[in-house]
Amino acid sequence: MSTTESTAVAGETTLTSVNPANGEVIATHPIADQQAVNAAVDRARGAATTWGALTYAERKKYLLRWASRLVAKSEELCDLIHAENGKPRDDAFLELLLTLEHIAWAAKNAEKVLKPRKVSPGALMSNFGAYLEQRPLGVIGVIGPWNYPIFTPNGSIAYALAAGNTVVYKPSEYSTSIGNFYTKAFAEANPELPDGVFVTVNGYGETGAALVRSDIDKIAFTGSAATGKKIMAAAADRLTPVLLECGGKDAVIVAADADIKAAADAVAYGATMNSGQTCAGVERVYVDASIRDEFVAEVKKILSDVHPGSDDKAAYGPMTMPSQIDIVRRHIEDALKNGGTAVLGGPESIKGPYIEPVVLVDVDENSAAVREETFGPTLTIRSVRSVDEAVALANDSTYSLGSTVFSRKHGLEIARRLEAGATSVNAVLGFAAISALPFGGGRDSGIGRIHGAPGMLEFTAAHSIAVQRFQIPGIALLSYARTESTMKLLRRVVPLLHGRNK
Ligand code: NAD
Repeated sequence: MSTTESTAVAGETTLTSVNPANGEVIATHPIADQQAVNAAVDRARGAATTWGALTYAERKKYLLRWASRLVAKSEELCDLIHAENGKPRDDAFLELLLTLEHIAWAAKNAEKVLKPRKVSPGALMSNFGAYLEQRPLGVIGVIGPWNYPIFTPNGSIAYALAAGNTVVYKPSEYSTSIGNFYTKAFAEANPELPDGVFVTVNGYGETGAALVRSDIDKIAFTGSAATGKKIMAAAADRLTPVLLECGGKDAVIVAADADIKAAADAVAYGATMNSGQTCAGVERVYVDASIRDEFVAEVKKILSDVHPGSDDKAAYGPMTMPSQIDIVRRHIEDALKNGGTAVLGGPESIKGPYIEPVVLVDVDENSAAVREETFGPTLTIRSVRSVDEAVALANDSTYSLGSTVFSRKHGLEIARRLEAGATSVNAVLGFAAISALPFGGGRDSGIGRIHGAPGMLEFTAAHSIAVQRFQIPGIALLSYARTESTMKLLRRVVPLLHGRNK
């Protein structure tokens, strides 16, 4: 297949990846069918015993070597990301930097997060030692999107590996070459490891579905809510646990006491960088009426000088997935039909695979541009009379992923009122760059968390061990040797332990 659209064609055995800016073919990859996926999972299962039995220090060494290999090949990798995804090389490098930060955090903190700990057995069980241990799950299936082709899947992959699991990764059909480059670097950095610690299977959604059906111990998915729901339904068959990182419709609140210039700068960037194809990118802005005109003028001024392209000076690249362009067009047209005004751009901003920034104001809150994920370089701005109104509108969404607050005095207070998985105050996307902070959402934004300690725990199962150190004479509770006097004693003790609270 060699079309500019990466779509599955029945019976095809190869997938051709193309440059979204010009349609040039980048590479052709064999498509993995169910049998090939099962074979990859078997290889990962075979390696899981060895990899899982290594010490945290050993796994740290291998993961950090992988990071260094990615650094050594960074020029080649950034060129490939630019070619296959379309984003500027500098943005590709920033994505690599964030990826390396997370690999390092996972490698260096796995032991601290997961090491066995002794917990209190409680008064009743004081003759026991109680140990809480976290075990790797085994083989993790990871399915990735294309918008941050290494950063997003890495949020699962690096943490799953650091926790002692092996990984079978299905990259997006729009970033297959990048996914294979990133995976191959792991094997190149660690030739002494057995085959199967971290492997890729390539293909479209069908290959992802085959991975969900296979003998994996958890599926970690990043992509749209619609696909996430299908994956959860399919995973129910084998009760395979799911981690779902889906879309967003992130809101920004600009309070009356905000630094207007800083807020406008952050909003302009957060809405359009990566062509607006960011799960936690800015999509909706609620600004206090008292500063609205100044804020809108500032956003417009900044974005008037921001242009997409494929050269090194471009602020952002083409839309990676051609079908997304129609969604962006529909949202702009619907917004304008429903009382909105475009203060910058409009439907004419869509020029081939490139979309110039579009700023829409006073759009009906029920229109597609406010309710659905647009995933393009557009934003809506609405003025509000109070922080209460801004919080209510921000929270009124089927998504709940990221959010942003601009306020000099009340940032943290407003952040705590937002129904989101993460909030950045007086900057956009701060949470995504802090490795210790978990990332993820609720509702249509998904289930579970990547990054940080919670993101590491996602790839483990608790194993509780209770060791009887000695028997208390006459107090055998879990035995037919239990006596009447033991029960009498218990009836006296229980009110003392639990019955004194008025
Ligand atoms: P998508 O849902 O179309 O595809 C994601 C992946 O799922 C691809 O690899 C695809 O081949 C695979 N897939 C498709 N159908 C499948 C099926 N039935 N079973 C198993 N796998 C299947 O999403 P996309 O267009 O690649 O990515 C964009 C979406 O990802 C946006 O909604 C964006 O918000 C979201 N996203 C979320 C996060 C996050 O961390 N929450 C990060 C990045 C992107």
